[in-house]
Order: sequence, then C-alpha cells, then structure tokens
Amino acid sequence: MLDRSFIRVDWPQAETTPLFGIRPLGEGTGDAESLFSYFLRVAHEHRLTPRNLVDAVLRDVIPLVPPLQGWRIGWGWDKDAGRDMLSGGSVTQKWVRVLAAATGQAGLEASTLIALSGHVSGDLLAPGARVCLQCLAEDSAKGTLPYGRLLWRLKAVTCCPAHRSHLVEPACGRGEALVRAQFGRVKLAGVCNQCGSVGHRCFESQSTEATFEEIWRAKQCQRMIGALPQIAASDPRAVPQCIKRHCDRPGALTSLALRSGATLSVLSRWMNNPHARLSFDQLLDICGVEGLELATLLQGRLEASREPGGPVEPARVRRKLAPVDHQAVKAALEDAVRSGESVTQVAERLRVDIATLARHKSLYKQVREATRQKQNAAMQARQDEAVHAAETAALRLARQNRPITHRNARKIGMASYPSETPAAILSMIRIGLGDRTLAYPPLAYRMGEPLLKKIEAAVQRVSAATGGGQERLPLQYR
Ligand SMILES: [Zn+2]
Ligand SMILES: [Zn+2]
Repeated sequence: MLDRSFIRVDWPQAETTPLFGIRPLGEGTGDAESLFSYFLRVAHEHRLTPRNLVDAVLRDVIPLVPPLQGWRIGWGWDKDAGRDMLSGGSVTQKWVRVLAAATGQAGLEASTLIALSGHVSGDLLAPGARVCLQCLAEDSAKGTLPYGRLLWRLKAVTCCPAHRSHLVEPACGRGEALVRAQFGRVKLAGVCNQCGSVGHRCFESQSTEATFEEIWRAKQCQRMIGALPQIAASDPRAVPQCIKRHCDRPGALTSLALRSGATLSVLSRWMNNPHARLSFDQLLDICGVEGLELATLLQGRLEASREPGGPVEPARVRRKLAPVDHQAVKAALEDAVRSGESVTQVAERLRVDIATLARHKSLYKQVREATRQKQNAAMQARQDEAVHAAETAALRLARQNRPITHRNARKIGMASYPSETPAAILSMIRIGLGDRTLAYPPLAYRMGEPLLKKIEAAVQRVSAATGGGQERLPLQYR
C-alpha cells in the first residue's frame, strides 16, 4: 500500500512519490513530448514494462486521488498508440491526474490536447503513431533517447515542419520477429517495438517532400502546441468574437465562408451561440485563407500569421453541385416506382442528394413506399425459406428417430451455421417440441411476432407428423 502523504500537490518540501520525477521533453515548445511517450519513458526509466507501471503502481495511486475515485483503467488503455492519454477528453484528464500524483510533476496536460477541448470540436488525433525519422535521428545524435512529439499525433499535421517531409507510420524493416514476440518487446516512443532499433533505423523509407500548404499547416500547429498552456488559460468565446470583429464589413462573413469552405449558417451559429464550437480543421482553414496565426487566435488575439506566403487553400473543399434537372429527376422517380429502384439508388445514379429528390414530395413518397414493400416481401421470402429449411430438417430427423440437433441437421444437408437464422429456427422448433434443456438462441430475441407465428405453425406440423407425443412448450421470447 502506498503512503497517502505524497498526494498533496503544493508540497512544502521533498515528499515521496512512487515514481521519481521526470519532466516531459521539449516542454513549452512546439516539439513537446506527448503524454503517451512520456508515460512509456517513465516506465522505461523505472525498469518497468508499461503494463507493470499500470498494474503495480497506477492502480494503487488511483484510490488516493479523490477526483479519480471509481475510475478503473480498462484493459485497452494503450489502444491506438495511447489515444486516451492524448485526445483531451475526460479520460485524458484522469491520466494527467494519476501520472501527476505518481510522479509529482505538474503541468502534464501540456503534453495532451486538453487545452483545445473547450475551444474546438471534432477528433483531432491521427489514428496511429507517426514519426519524422530525421527528427528521431537528431535526437539520437544529441545522445538522448528519441521521443514522440504531440505534434505528430495531430490529424491536421501530415509532415515535419522542420524537415519538410511527410511523417511516416513506422514498421519494422527486419521482417517478422519469430522470438521475443509480445512480451519481450520494447515499448518506447521512437523505438521499433519488434527489433528494438532506436529511432526506427530498421525502417527503410524514402522521405517524401511535403507541399507548401502542408508545411504551412504543420508550422501553425507546431506554434499552437508550444502555446497550449496559454491557450488553456484563455476564454474559448474570445475566438468567435475575434473572427466577428475581423468580418465586421458588410459581406465579409459570406466571403470568408465561401473562401474557407465553411457554411455561412455554421459560422454565424458559432459567433452567436455561446455553446457552439467550430471544428479544428475549419479553424485552421480560416487561418489559412485569412493569413491568421492559429496559436494567438486560440488565445483570443487577431494576429497575422508568422508564416510568409499564402493565402493557403482550404483542405476541406465543399462539394460543388451541378444545377439539377428536375424534369430528369421526376422521370427517374416515376421509373423507380415501377422498377422498384430505391431513392438512394436514384440519387446515386443522377448524382443528386436525397433532399433534391424529396422536393418531388408525392413521387418521393411513392418510391419510398414501393421500396418498403419490396424489402418487406424479400424479408418474408427469406423467413419462409429459413423456416422451411429448419422444418424439413426437423421432420426428416424425427422420422429417422434421430435427435433434432444442429449437427444432425447439417449432416442431412441443412446449410446453416449455428449463428444463422435457419439454425436459430431449428433451436426454436426443438424448444417448441418440448426440449427444456435448450436456451433460446440469441437471434430469438430479435424475432418479431410474424416470424414466431410461422415457427409456431412449423412446430405444430412437425408435432402432428411425428405423433406429437411430447408436451409442447409455448414459444415465448423475453
Ligand atoms: Zn523532422
Ligand atoms: Zn525493427
């Protein structure tokens, strides 16, 4: 059991923490270490595996930190290269708290995207680990262990702003590791977890040159990462107010919406509704076309981008719709009523959206109704076929005096896997015939009244054909 005394945050003198203190690398700069990389490094420095660190230390620390009470670190805590530790959601805050308590280090939230969670909406993280091999090589050249930058985890960042080449998803270049699999692997950011090569030197990858736009975005994001502590301390509402001031000329907002690929209604809602948030990518696009500095905008200050060049074209380009030929739409809908084509199919064929079709109200309704009937008929036919297959198998087995089991049914030719409908119906027939040893198959809970009635009828037919000696059980569900 751990000593409670270390939990105090403003300790007056040196206190005991279960782990000795290490600071995140690159603190306060655009190259700040990600919390996941920091966590892996803390484990490594203590000669613990990441799993040991969680199981042997952090799980004991949690009960001592009041805001974490009731939190349990689930089994998938490191999934997607530590997404939970970085994303900025409530779980990220818990990771910051538990690591702060275990290491005695404050300010770890600057290694996560917590600061942005109040300012923007949307998922900011790339799904997996990405690295700049040249940055890792420079780490090694300095005689330090390479580490994972928070910047590299941002979805909006596709290249290294310093080396102007695309980030890569590292894979081991030495092929399948036969031994040391799973348990002996090194888990450290910037180190190959298959062969242990520091800086992923086993990974041969041609660095490809990034475009001007990509580098511009990466540099904006890099300066933003360096400013995360200041962003965290500033009021999120100041951001839309800034843009509102920026667009106070008549027509300026419409113009901004057009150029940045935003919807005017989304922009005005963002400015007028205190709870509305703009997506991070949209904000970055606005900075791009207006030549604004993202890091200061997020702090509520309107400043020109420190990056020369521009304007930078938005990454999110709105789909341009061709003018709609409503005569053709009407004719296609009339055809669809007869042919049974669905509205989705018509929309795809004519390259228009569903809303355009829906403007032809009455025809649209007819097509929907025809589709519904067609789907219903197809479903009825599938059900009848499945009941028929199960009933035929049950009858044959009963006549042969063999137990009505799925295995026997397959032996006489019923083609159905245990998870499929005919197999489930066969189980229902057995239950209906009086077998109390069988549990309802999972599919039974999704069967509607009409199908249950069909099965009930099949049970009666099987029972009658075989003499029906047994007591029948009602087929109930739930
Ligand atoms: Zn680099
Ligand atoms: Zn390797």
